[in-house]
Amino acid sequence: MTPTALMDITARPGTVFERGEGSWLWDTQGRRYLDFVQGWAVNTLGHAPAVIREALDAQSRLLLTPSPAFYNAPAIELARRLTQHSVFDQVFFTNSGAEANEGAIKLARKWGQLHKGGAHEIITYADGFHGRTLATMSASGKPGWDRMFAPQVPGFPKAHLNDLASVQALIGPDTVAIMLEPIQGESGVNPATTAFLQGLRRLCDEHELLLIFDEVQTGIGRLGQFFGYQHFGVTPDIATLAKGLGGGVPIGALLARQHACVFVHGDQGGTFNGNPLMCAVGQAVLDEVLAPDFLPRVRAAGEHLTRRLQTLSAHYGLGAVRGAGLLQALELGQPIAAQLVAHAREQLMLGGAQANTGLLLNAPRPAVLRFMPALTVSLEEIDQMIEGLAQSLKAVR
Ligand SMILES: *Cc1c(COP(=O)(O)O)cnc(C)c1O
Repeated sequence: MTPTALMDITARPGTVFERGEGSWLWDTQGRRYLDFVQGWAVNTLGHAPAVIREALDAQSRLLLTPSPAFYNAPAIELARRLTQHSVFDQVFFTNSGAEANEGAIKLARKWGQLHKGGAHEIITYADGFHGRTLATMSASGKPGWDRMFAPQVPGFPKAHLNDLASVQALIGPDTVAIMLEPIQGESGVNPATTAFLQGLRRLCDEHELLLIFDEVQTGIGRLGQFFGYQHFGVTPDIATLAKGLGGGVPIGALLARQHACVFVHGDQGGTFNGNPLMCAVGQAVLDEVLAPDFLPRVRAAGEHLTRRLQTLSAHYGLGAVRGAGLLQALELGQPIAAQLVAHAREQLMLGGAQANTGLLLNAPRPAVLRFMPALTVSLEEIDQMIEGLAQSLKAVR
């Protein structure tokens, strides 16, 4: 493809993207795309929303960063609002999801040192995904990752999602926590069942373990509730956020209930952590997501997406539709997902040749498509996506 001075870390199409607005992206060739990837479930309010532009502009005129060793008002206020609208009592801001999960792992190990005689093992899951640092890769259950940068960070035994016995079998004197995504995102949108999450809560209470939800993908309205745990009605002790919290800028968060807030001075930190510029954007995102109409509209859009995908699936003889809110997947039954994604992006002419409009989709598995539009996506845009996907299906099959 196009040789550049960027490290070649993934197969990227030659397209160079130039600007975006809401659910739409434009490349340097002037082709327009309906975007159902949205920065990887990141752009909560779509591309380049005015409220984020204004927050960046206003905060950048005031203060970029005073140093993480001093307080700043946007960080204090964002933490207050995150705790006000959840069960959590305190927040540590990070710059990414992986960093938030590193913080969760450190917090659990510290808690184990204080309260469980040095217990340090965190039960994690086959096919789970927690990020790309060494510890979060070790906590992830992506096939092949155990050998990729061997040796792994030890202490992350793997259970199976929705198999409580597989979790129970791993609990021992060294166990300090159970950590999972309530819906496994990168493995193809595989939800935990409510009964399974309730079972984990019970096991954690019985064995005095911490329950950690990685809500980097499921948090900030993605499932139709502010936090994903609220969708399931199961309360973790610790949660992590990133992706949607910044609506397109890099910010993450580690949140914990009081009994798990055990860091002391020197345990945790970071130069850019909680900088006012990113925290001001986080506040602008929350202003929108917590407005009274916002989450009901996400739920309605999610139901519309489910119905349209189910109808499409029935018509073309495809498989199951999974997920919740605006994080959903369609099982294709054949390994054609990558071809569909490429066709929709490059050859599709949504609205006719004049419109020169393509469609951006994601294939987390060879036979699975994932849909993670802006939470502000309209029902018409969902219908347009379905129309485009149907055209690409006809062309590819
Ligand atoms: C994306 C993701 C991460 C990693 O976040 P980064 O910001 O890329 O480090 C961790 N956990 C889950 C569930 C994710 O979806």
